[in-house]
Amino acid sequence: MNELQGKVALVTGAASGIGRAIASAYAQAGARVVVADIAAEGAAEAAAAIGHGALGIAMDVTDEAQVDDGFARTRRELGPVDILVSNAGVQIISPLVDLPFADWKRMLAIHMDGAFLTSRAAMRQMVESGRGGSVILMGSAHSHVASKFKAPYVAAKHGLLGLARVIAKEGAPDGIRSNVICPGFVRTPLVEKQIPEQARELGISEDDVIRNVMLRDTVDGEFTTLEDIADAALFLAGFRSNALTGQSLVVTHGWHMQ
Ligand code: NAD
Repeated sequence: MNELQGKVALVTGAASGIGRAIASAYAQAGARVVVADIAAEGAAEAAAAIGHGALGIAMDVTDEAQVDDGFARTRRELGPVDILVSNAGVQIISPLVDLPFADWKRMLAIHMDGAFLTSRAAMRQMVESGRGGSVILMGSAHSHVASKFKAPYVAAKHGLLGLARVIAKEGAPDGIRSNVICPGFVRTPLVEKQIPEQARELGISEDDVIRNVMLRDTVDGEFTTLEDIADAALFLAGFRSNALTGQSLVVTHGWHMQ
């Protein structure tokens, strides 16, 4: 399985969870991978564990200089980027009426500014190299549906659909595709943290949060897995033409059906 042989892929938020699983799958498929994360030690550790020459770099996706420097280093050390997975993300659980403005702005900065800054840097390299590429934004089921207590997350994840569609239109002449992956609940640190938080906000048990909030509308009561999302990311990265661009791929055990 060397379908990404010769490609350079940069994955943000790749020290943990979904990003790490995608970076690992890409490396196994032959790509030279950059593990970019605000957690510098975590990025270095993940890159070492992934192997295949993966490069760990410290990058806060909300910081323009750090993003541009990280992409410049990638080009110097591995070559121009062919695949971006803009995946870094956090979650804040709070009723909208109690949400501090600073938390709203921080969420939009990580999810939206981060997607913009990394997409811009990746597209510049894809245009310059003449090879085009694939820009994958990590959305969520919450790109399509809403849940209580997640106002900035739901707003930002919906916003990524619009950004991907613009990238698809502007990138097409240069062979740049853009799509959004929309996972259901995957048991990463981001989700483990919110199970007790949601139980508190809703006044129910943690088991009820899992069964009656997170997985209630799936077809089979199952969590989505890291492997499911890595498979989707491999499929989108390897897809060869503009036939599949500007889309969102919903991987949620049927929680949301388009
Ligand atoms: P995670 O907490 O395991 O990993 C997130 C990573 O992002 C961490 O390594 C963290 O250090 C990094 N990060 C946070 N802020 C950053 C910043 N400013 N710059 C660079 N890196 C930063 O979470 P995860 O569940 O793997 O989430 C990854 C993405 O998947 C997020 O965008 C999340 O919204 C999305 N997602 C997750 C789920 C789920 O159920 N886990 C479902 C849908 C979408």
